[in-house]
Formats: sequence, structure tokens, C-alpha cells
Amino acid sequence: MCKESRNDRPSLAGARTNYPRTQHYSENSFIRNARIGGFCFVVLLISICAGTNGVYSQSDNPSTVQGAAGEPYPNMPSIAPIGVSIGKYLDVPSSSQGPPIDPAKGYRVQDLGKGLYMITDNAIQSMFLVYDRGVVVIDAPQNLAAFIPKAIAEVSDKPITHLIYSHSHADHIGGAKALGGHPIIIAHEETLRLLKRDADPNRPLPMVTFSDRYTLRVGNQVLELSYHGNAHEPGNIFIYAPAQRVLMVVDVVFPGWMPWRRFALAQDIPGYFAQVEEIRKMDWDTYVGGHVTRTGTHADVDIQAEFNNDVKQAAATALATTKPGEGLNPLDKNNPWAFFDHYIDRVAAQCVNTLTPKWSTKLGGFDVYVWDQCYSMEQTLRIE
Ligand SMILES: [Zn+2]
Repeated sequence: MCKESRNDRPSLAGARTNYPRTQHYSENSFIRNARIGGFCFVVLLISICAGTNGVYSQSDNPSTVQGAAGEPYPNMPSIAPIGVSIGKYLDVPSSSQGPPIDPAKGYRVQDLGKGLYMITDNAIQSMFLVYDRGVVVIDAPQNLAAFIPKAIAEVSDKPITHLIYSHSHADHIGGAKALGGHPIIIAHEETLRLLKRDADPNRPLPMVTFSDRYTLRVGNQVLELSYHGNAHEPGNIFIYAPAQRVLMVVDVVFPGWMPWRRFALAQDIPGYFAQVEEIRKMDWDTYVGGHVTRTGTHADVDIQAEFNNDVKQAAATALATTKPGEGLNPLDKNNPWAFFDHYIDRVAAQCVNTLTPKWSTKLGGFDVYVWDQCYSMEQTLRIE
């Protein structure tokens, strides 16, 4: 009954395939409906509703429960869709894993050379730079705040004199207040704007802001801060240590891993894709992405860019070859949100199927977020 061109369901050695399909799809539909928005829907809503007088008042006793779960979509991926509980995620590839954390410490410090260090618990990352009279901290994540003074004490007895915010998000700077002292806080002007709005006592406002570039010189150390436009969120900056040849850009590239869901919640996905390409072309040796297990190399950024391009291609093909409305219950034909949910689910399923054979063993957390990336990509392609 389905004439759409789709890839065969991939077979995944070791993947969990026994997620409870039919019980959960219908529950997830409403959640997804809430996520789906955009101008084109409004246009289509108008066109669909025109000439369908009173479609929403056709029953005096509207049903408050969905119909019984139907058959799974044709060629449903073996990767469990969003909202379905599974027993075991795919194993993390060895290439995605980082050096182990000493459980007694809860963090590790990585020497990036010439006084620059990364601190991480293998989930989130920050850095600090030691100079002759003090220490510059770059990001103070909530989960690392207690460890940062200990990590600094491992290599220096100097006080924290400066604190740089990569961007405004609490997971990266929510430990700023807990650091104590009175460091000079430096951030992009958009970060100041967002932090004023958020009014979070754990994220003190920056005293020094800039719009395009700012060079911090302390002792014989240098950090070059620059703004490359909105991608992850307004105000998210590039932080470059020229002597160490280290580039830190948070929440954009995830070395060895899938981006966090929906391209790390990028507020501008075309901008996000462009920024990955920009990072790829820049001259540096070590990349600090702010998350997951390890630092990155140019090869990691190349892989991220390749994955991005593959998602874009897979979603574009699925959008072009999936027929809207095909297989939809005729009783739902006057429900535009259901009409599109049904279409977009099938687009995303095809996108996931296309990506799985190549990427499921290549990136940590592929199965965790591939549905999210496909939903995000199809929406971007339709409306941006
Ligand atoms: Zn963020």
C-alpha cells in the first residue's frame, strides 16, 4: 500500500529492537504535535480548514483518548523512537570514550600545554589558564564548580582573577557564584542581555563585555575571544588560546559523539551548520567542546560536518519521497496537526533508517538522539 521509497530496515547487531512499539506510538504523537510548528503549518491550516465548516464540532462528545494503537509505520527503524523506554542503548564506540575519571576525585584535569588546563567529569568541560599572578577560569559549570578550586590547586596557588563565560547557559556557568571571590567576569554583550533577563543569582552579570572581538592579556598569557554570530544561542563565543593552539567553542562540536538533541538545541540550525564548517577551517590543534568525554581534533570536526551533511541529505530525500496523508486514518483528515504528525513521523523514520547503517557504530549516543536530529532537520529544511 505504500509507494514511498524507503530504505530497508537496518539490521543492528547488538542493538535493542524489542522496544514496545504499538503501546507507545500513539502516546508520543501528542508530544510531537506540540513540538511541530512553523509558518507553513499556518498556511496549510488555513487552506485545509477553508471549506470544512465546523470540522471540530462534528461530535457532541469528543473522545478524550486516542484510538487503539495502529500498525507501526512501514519500515519502522530498529532504533527506538523518542519517548520509548529501552533496556540498553547501543554501546559507546571506543573512539568516543575519554580517559577515565578517578571515582575518588570525580573529575580529571588535562594539561593542554603552557599553563592551560581542561577540567572535566567526562560529561561537561571547562578550562583554566595560569599566569604569573593569577588564574583565568573559562566557564564554571554547575557540576564542576566544587572541583575547579581543587583542580587549580593541583597546579597553582594563585587566585582566580578572571572568569570568562562562553555563553549564558546555566549548565556551563551556573557554578560562577559558587566559585567565590571577585573575579572580573568577561562575556559577549548578548550574554549580558540574556543574563539580565534570567536574573539568576548563581550567574553573576559580566563586568566586561564586547561585540566582535576581545583580547585578554594577563602576564605572558593571551586569550582571543571572538563572536561569529548566532548558532547555539546569541552570545556564544569562540575562545582561542594562540600559544597553546587550543580552540574552545561550547555546544557546537561534540568530539566522537552525537550532538545533544536537536543539534544541541541550536537556536539557528543553518547558523549552527555554518559554524561547524567555520571551526573546521580554522587553524588550531586541540578543540574543547564543553561536553562529553574528551578533547577533539580536526578529524572529529570533519566527522561532525560529515554527519551534519548526511542528516541534511537524508531528511531532504525523505521529505521529497514521502507522500503526505498516505495511510492516515480518514477520520483524521480534517485534523491538520495529525495530518502533519503522520507525515513527519514517516519522514523522520526514513531519515533514521538512512543514517543508521553508516553512523550507529561511529558516534557515541547515535541511537539516543538520531530521531531528534532527523525531526530537527526536516523542520529546518521545510521552514528555513
Ligand atoms: Zn548551551
